Amino acid sequence: MSENSENYSLFEDVCLAVDNAAAHMDIHPGLLDQIKACNAIFKFSFPIRNDDGTYEVLKGYRIQHSHHKLPVKGGIRFSSYVNEEEVKGLAALMTYKCALVNIPFGGAKGGVSIDPKKYNANQLERITRRYTSELIKKNFIGPAIDVPAPDYGTGAREMSWIVDTFEAFNPNVINAKGCVTGKPLSQHGIDGRTEATGLGVFFGIREAVSVKEDMDSLGLTVGLKGKRVIVQGFGNVGYHSAKYMSEAGALIVGVAEYNGGIYDEKGLDVEALKSYQVANKGFEGFASGQFVQNGNSLLTYPCDILIPAALENQITKDNAHDIKAKIIGEAANGPVTQEADQILLGRNVMVIPDMYLNAGGVTVSYFEWLKNLSRVSFGKLEKRYDMKKYDALLESIENATGDHFTQDQKDLIVKGASERDLVISGLEETMVTAYHEMNRTRKEKSIQSLRTAGFILALERIAVSYMDLGIFP
Ligand code: GLU
Repeated sequence: MSENSENYSLFEDVCLAVDNAAAHMDIHPGLLDQIKACNAIFKFSFPIRNDDGTYEVLKGYRIQHSHHKLPVKGGIRFSSYVNEEEVKGLAALMTYKCALVNIPFGGAKGGVSIDPKKYNANQLERITRRYTSELIKKNFIGPAIDVPAPDYGTGAREMSWIVDTFEAFNPNVINAKGCVTGKPLSQHGIDGRTEATGLGVFFGIREAVSVKEDMDSLGLTVGLKGKRVIVQGFGNVGYHSAKYMSEAGALIVGVAEYNGGIYDEKGLDVEALKSYQVANKGFEGFASGQFVQNGNSLLTYPCDILIPAALENQITKDNAHDIKAKIIGEAANGPVTQEADQILLGRNVMVIPDMYLNAGGVTVSYFEWLKNLSRVSFGKLEKRYDMKKYDALLESIENATGDHFTQDQKDLIVKGASERDLVISGLEETMVTAYHEMNRTRKEKSIQSLRTAGFILALERIAVSYMDLGIFP
């Protein structure tokens, strides 16, 4: 991944996008200032003792961008690029993201400025628990206050350590499990959270390419079948995005990682590539395609859809002119800078914005949080039914109606909905509705940018919430 340049500020970039949207609205400047400002910034340092007896002082952050709805929500990032401007920008994006997909949370984000690859599991556990204890001391975590989740460099394992630490300090908080989402299933997580962001990315792009007049104006055919896709980042989000895109008939022609990329115009086998990456820590030597030393150069290789799924500040004024894709799906937060966004608009490239496209993660986090507060499980799919008995019946329905059922649909008809079915259908509904609301706003306001349309919708909703709240005291 390219170095995140020193003078780049994600927060400033997000504010610029907000201003672009506000220019199409009648919004009081004072209210706009309040919406844009970060409400609470907690930055701290803490020491860790390494196994070899050395010490390090780490920088931690938790930033609550907007209290217009509580709790605030957003992931925790472990990366050496973490700094205050980045966390502020990511927290702000959470506010707009939640508003756009109608999830009732304010926005927040946290991080520790470390490269997690340099630490073993014991060290990471100590770092995560110490970080959590700092949040507890200052009241920056709790099911009704601020609810973290996974982000770049963290996952279900870290969320487990967080909930365990929180419960240790808060034995009387009845809904303590809801202090963090993205937990493993054994710790009251929810089935479908791991793949939620990538699945949401797929639903979002699928909706975009289903609109004929929009595809006509890009010179593309409708649908995903045969579309050539390049994905940057093959972690949780990138891998799941690629998986669902290829299952729907798209060709994954390129995958870029920080330690090299791979390109195959005939299409890569996503599952085989993931297994290879896990076993070999990279793509070099993979059975098909051609290894590309500089992974980031793949951003400008020929394709129809480019999915940056790693970090911010990847498509900038320096490479925006060379992008070949007609659609950029922002699976990461902030991968396209505002300058690049303007260049891409001028080149008639459709950018499906992060605040919409990667909202699947927080959407399913919301379901997990609701599950934790209500203290119920949404149910598991039990293997009590012998599907063979129902095959003849389902086949006669298929013959009578002309419909064709997938195995998942057959399971659903015979066995009823599992927790996973509910999660996936809720996620799909959320992503489909939000896409068409955003695209409708774009057309009604006669603007070109989906991002600007998304921010208009989000700002309208946040503004109403602030106006109804009034000002205390
Ligand atoms: N880190 C994810 C994001 O950027 C998910 C946040 C959440 O689930 O709260 O949207």
